Formats: sequence, C-alpha cells, structure tokens
Amino acid sequence: MSFDVDTVRADFPAMSLTAHGKPLVFLDSAASAQKPRQVLDAMRTFYETSYANVHRGLYELSERATTAYEESREKVRRFINAADSKEIVFTSGATDSINTVAFSWGAQHLSAGDEVILSQAEHHSNIVPWQLLRERKGFTIKVVPVSDRGEFDFAAYERMLSDKTKLVAVMHVSNVLGSVFPVKAITAAAHKAGAAVLIDGCQGATHLPVDMQDIGCDFYAFSGHKLYGPTGIGVLYGRAAVLEKTNPFRGGGDMIRSVSFEKSEWADIPARFEAGTPPIVQAVGLGHAVDYVSKIGMSAVAGRERELCAALQDGVLSVGGFRVIGTAPDKAGVVSFVSDFAHPQDIAMILDQEGICVRTGHHCAQPLHERFGISVSVRASLGVYNTLEDIEKLVAALHKVKRFFA
Ligand code: PMP
Repeated sequence: MSFDVDTVRADFPAMSLTAHGKPLVFLDSAASAQKPRQVLDAMRTFYETSYANVHRGLYELSERATTAYEESREKVRRFINAADSKEIVFTSGATDSINTVAFSWGAQHLSAGDEVILSQAEHHSNIVPWQLLRERKGFTIKVVPVSDRGEFDFAAYERMLSDKTKLVAVMHVSNVLGSVFPVKAITAAAHKAGAAVLIDGCQGATHLPVDMQDIGCDFYAFSGHKLYGPTGIGVLYGRAAVLEKTNPFRGGGDMIRSVSFEKSEWADIPARFEAGTPPIVQAVGLGHAVDYVSKIGMSAVAGRERELCAALQDGVLSVGGFRVIGTAPDKAGVVSFVSDFAHPQDIAMILDQEGICVRTGHHCAQPLHERFGISVSVRASLGVYNTLEDIEKLVAALHKVKRFFA
C-alpha cells in the first residue's frame, strides 16, 4: 500500500522551507513532526469561530467548543480502536500521560516489595517518573535488557515476571533503535502474572496502526506533536475498568462531582483526570491531525516508512565507517548511528549546512546509549512527507562528512 507523497508534501508548509540556501530535508520527526495546513487551518478557524472554555458555559459558543473538544476525543478513540471514548484522557503530552499513571494509579497501587518492570531502551519519560515514585513508595525497578540488535529480550522478561510484578511499563517503538517491541505478547505475559501494563506509544501511534483492544494493555501514552498535531496535547488511554478505580492526582476544574471543605467527590472518567482548563484548541488540532493520517491510512504510512527506513539504514551503512545502533528486523521510522571518525555533533553540523535536519544527543535515552557503549548518537527519523530523495541527500552528505573527517 502506498500514497502520493507529492500531495502530502504540498500539505506541509515546512516542506517548502530552505536552510542555508538548500531545500529543507526534515529527518527529525521522532522529536516533533511538521504540521499539515489542514491542522493549522482548523485551529485558526476554531479560534475564530468556536472558541470558548469547554464544559462550563450554557451558551451556544461554549457548546460548540465543547462539541469540537469531545469530537476530538471520539476521533482519537477510533484512531486507536479503544472500546469507549471515556477511555481517552487528554493530557499535555506523553510525558504527562506517563506521570499521570505514576502519580494516580501508581501512587494508589505500588508499595514496598512490589516490582515494576521497564526496558533498557526506555525514554527518560518512562524511567524518571517511576524513580520519583519509588522514592516515596520503596518498590523495586527491574530492567529488561535489549539484544545487540536492539530487540526486547522476551526470555529475560519472562524470567523477571513473578507475583511481585505489579506493573510492566515499556515502549512500543524505540525512539533510538526504531525496534518495534512485541507489546501484545508483553501484555499477555504481564496479565498472566497479574501485572498491569503501560505502553509508551509515543513512537508507536505515529508510525504504526495501533489497536487498544488487540494489544489489550491497561494504559497507552502518546503525544499530539509527533502525530502532526500541535504541542501541548497528549493522550492517555486507560482501560475503563482500570481508570474507573483510579483516583486523580491533580485537583481543580471539572475533575470533581462536588466539593466541600470536608470532602470532595471525583467526576466520572475521563474528566476526573483533566483538571483545570484543558488544552482545548490543541485537542481540536489533534483531532484534525488524526483525520489527516487516517485519510492516508496508518497501514499505508507504516508500509511506506518501513521501505524508507530500510533504505535509510542501508544508505547509512553503504557509506562505510558508520555504525547503526539497533538493527532489529522489525523497525519503524528511526535510524540512529555513530561514526568511527567524527563526533555526532560534527556530523550534524555538516548535515545542517546541507539543509538536513537530524538530531544528535542521547535522545532522552542515556541508559540505552550506555548499553551500546556510547554517550550520544545521530538520529534520522521519518515522517509521512519523507522521500527516497531525502535519504539520498543524507547519504551524499555523509560521504561529505567522511571526506572531511576520515
Ligand atoms: N517516549 C518516547 C518513546 C519518546 O520518543 C518521547 C519523545 N521523544 C517521549 C516519550 C516524550 O514525549 P513528550 O516529550 O512529547 O512528552
């Protein structure tokens, strides 16, 4: 399955930009994706025609805003095939979604003697919240290793599971390795052991079709800005049966049924987890971003990105002197690499001169870099607008790097 990439590129104003006088080659979508005109226009139109606070006013404009906000929730539900739109909590981003699980569900259910299982590849956003909570609760964190190719070590994971395991929190797709983790099997094994499952889907929902009812996880987190939507909006999917038994950790706004100085009662889900004025326009923008990618079709996105990702990896390796970090057979959208002769920062500087945007650093995955014996890497990542030509330009620029440094 494929789609017309020229039509897609024409939707993204950023695809016509230049940098250092060269046409922009944007290979940093894993950090944040560019936005199509459809999302930008929809947000502007909403501000101009339908903007008011949601859930509060008994006037038409506020009702219009509320309808648009709730329609976005339903679009997200459909996008990830959740069973019910009340399972969709709007947050400020994936980091906020994971912190919400930690400090609501986790604070309620985790205590000394319990074990939380993470993987070695996790983004800091799925490590640090658990460490913060561990300081309060005294549970133990166990870490599933990844193989030399960057695969989730399922056998090690199975050996780690026990009746002490209360939560398994792992990523769907690594933002460094690109590896796709077997989240359905991970979830099934965790549930068999009686543990809950949180999937960090930040790079999953953007590159692959995702289906909450198929994966079966209890929580799934992702960010709007990596899915061609605005910043400031994220999603926490929570299985209704689990969310309904979870207390909020942020108070204020619409998250209550009643308040008195003696006692407050919580609203139903999902409002219970959306304290304060929510990111209304951002939620509307995310709804339109979901419309946008759904129209292309996530299977088509995944299929095209798989081909490009293979070409990207082969291209980087073809130059010689570059080592790819993570060569799992099942990869999505991301290729990270280091070189024998140039520091990642020097590589990025030369690429920048060619108009090529890549990321250098630890990509918020320091333990993973340490596992591969490095401190930083260069990461090229794909979006719906990337082409084989982008990859050819990157490869040509890497030859330049080699000529310069080797
Ligand atoms: N998890 C993964 C796998 C990510 O790639 C990112 C973003 N780089 C995050 C979590 C955090 O996302 P955000 O900064 O949008 O909260």
